[in-house]
Amino acid sequence: MTDVPTSHPRYESLRIRDAIVTGVKRGVTSEHGLIAHGRGEAYDYLLGERTHPFAVAAIDAAAHLLSQASHPVISVNGNVVALVAADLVRLSEVLGAPLEVNIFHASKQREQAIRGYLLEHGADEVLMPSTDATLDFIDSNRKFVHPQGIHKADAIFVPLEDGDRCQALRRMGKAVVTVDLNPMSRTSRTASITIVDNVVRALPLLIQGLENLAPYGGAKQGAAFDNIAHLAAAEQEIRSPDS
Ligand code: ATP
Ligand code: MG
Repeated sequence: MTDVPTSHPRYESLRIRDAIVTGVKRGVTSEHGLIAHGRGEAYDYLLGERTHPFAVAAIDAAAHLLSQASHPVISVNGNVVALVAADLVRLSEVLGAPLEVNIFHASKQREQAIRGYLLEHGADEVLMPSTDATLDFIDSNRKFVHPQGIHKADAIFVPLEDGDRCQALRRMGKAVVTVDLNPMSRTSRTASITIVDNVVRALPLLIQGLENLAPYGGAKQGAAFDNIAHLAAAEQEIRSPDS
């Protein structure tokens, strides 16, 4: 990105694109991930590329839910790691939750590349999918999980999730917090809490929210969260002509 001046009106969007392209070059992100990113970009454009009050409320509720879980786990894929590797490592430290690799397009090589990228960004340990534990209600590669990670988790933070797996995790009785710019996706509609915001903006805010909760030992009760109402607010924002 050395050829793009920081004054460029789309600098931030171009910087994020560059991070995804680097992810593909490093073998971290799949080529399909570029398409998923494009869809995210389109929704972000419609949302004015900023964090709205419905996202702030979701982040607050997510901080409460995750801090109160007995065994929270952070599930990562190639897109998220390319965009926010350092923030994921920080989140894992603040929350005391392991990072676990879980990708849709099966590739041992890419799983290892994702692990390597996280270690490079300061992670001590990264859990890997295994054949020792599988999720119910799902047939794709994403059913293979770590016995001490997603399999055992009562709450999972899984940004840019796939609708199928989100449904499977919910059917297994687990709480799911996701980040998804599309308030209409199956993931958004199935998760316990959906943060409709760009993961690049949402993660630092979630970390901050957890740090603010820490003095209370995470014990402070969060207000009840109506996910469907928050999705409706996000959809309204997209449809409103003056946004
Ligand atoms: P679903 O299975 O939930 O119906 P999908 O299969 O249509 O969704 P996927 O390709 O699985 O969608 O995932 C891409 C999702 O991630 C899209 O909803 C897209 O808006 C969202 N997304 C992409 N990039 C980002 C980002 N940087 N921040 C937040 N969300 C993003
Ligand atoms: Mg999907």
